Amino acid sequence: MTAEIINGKELSTKLKASMKIETETLKRKGIVPHLTVVLVGDNPASRSYVSGKEKASQEIGMSSEVIELPTTISETELLALIQQLNDKPSVHGILVQLPLPPHIKEQHIIEAIHPSKDVDGFHPLSIGRMITGQDTFISCTPYGIMEMLRSKNISIEGKHAVVIGRSNIVGKPIGQLLLNENATVTYCHSKTVDLKAYTTQADILIVATGVPQMINADHIKKGAVVIDVGINRNEEGKLVGDVDFESVKEKAAFITPVPRGVGPMTITMLLKNTLKAAKGLAGN
Ligand code: NDP
Repeated sequence: MTAEIINGKELSTKLKASMKIETETLKRKGIVPHLTVVLVGDNPASRSYVSGKEKASQEIGMSSEVIELPTTISETELLALIQQLNDKPSVHGILVQLPLPPHIKEQHIIEAIHPSKDVDGFHPLSIGRMITGQDTFISCTPYGIMEMLRSKNISIEGKHAVVIGRSNIVGKPIGQLLLNENATVTYCHSKTVDLKAYTTQADILIVATGVPQMINADHIKKGAVVIDVGINRNEEGKLVGDVDFESVKEKAAFITPVPRGVGPMTITMLLKNTLKAAKGLAGN
């Protein structure tokens, strides 16, 4: 068996084309969807993520701005800026790029963003609404994964989904979204004993660990759906996922590649959340 590839880049292009039309429609009604991204400091990875977000916003005709701040900014000053953005009706989505310098408590910043502008879906209210199955902003990476599964009509109900990783931004929310769709969900993490005993039972395996190529064909069941969230550089400097794509693709039914997998979908879902905010559809 050679797995069918779920190409996140192609799916993103398709979704962005329809979002471009939606943006034009909103603009005709006098609403210009606008995303403000706040970048603190000079972390090269953060800078590259932020420019990707800005470029994608422009591609669909959405307005966006990046506010760059020095690492020395205090938590109080950053909170004051967020308050200003909360109060500005022309700003529909606010995203503060993480990580922040150690003297700023990330949770304070996340909780300061008004839930109606929380396009990253990290605010506790958004998370609570997601857990209780209400309409809300879903954090972008798990949201993108759900869209990828939907795009291939992969059925979730009654399936055993195994999630490796329990971060607040990927592992925990994707498990919850799969549970909401009636999967039976098992979470694994670094303290899990005998990981393979769980992964080989998975109908749907989500891998979000940041450990390059830790999952190979021996870890999976024949015909499984394998979603690789990881973005890592291997020793040769090549971009690789948390899954050994070459071996796993010979055993799985569906697989996401790295690059051109989950990564492009994450930015695309940020645009989708910003459009939702511009339409005033969530989190008030
Ligand atoms: P975190 O570092 O926050 O979490 C990693 C998780 O993996 C933790 O729960 C950890 O367990 C678990 N883990 C680590 N090593 C092992 C192991 N050997 N066996 C089992 N579990 C393990 O990472 P993120 O969730 O933020 O990101 C995960 C990966 O996804 C990274 O490569 C990141 O770059 C990528 N990523 C990609 C995105 C995209 O758009 N494609 C978006 C966000 C992240 P424990 O809790 O016990 O420490």
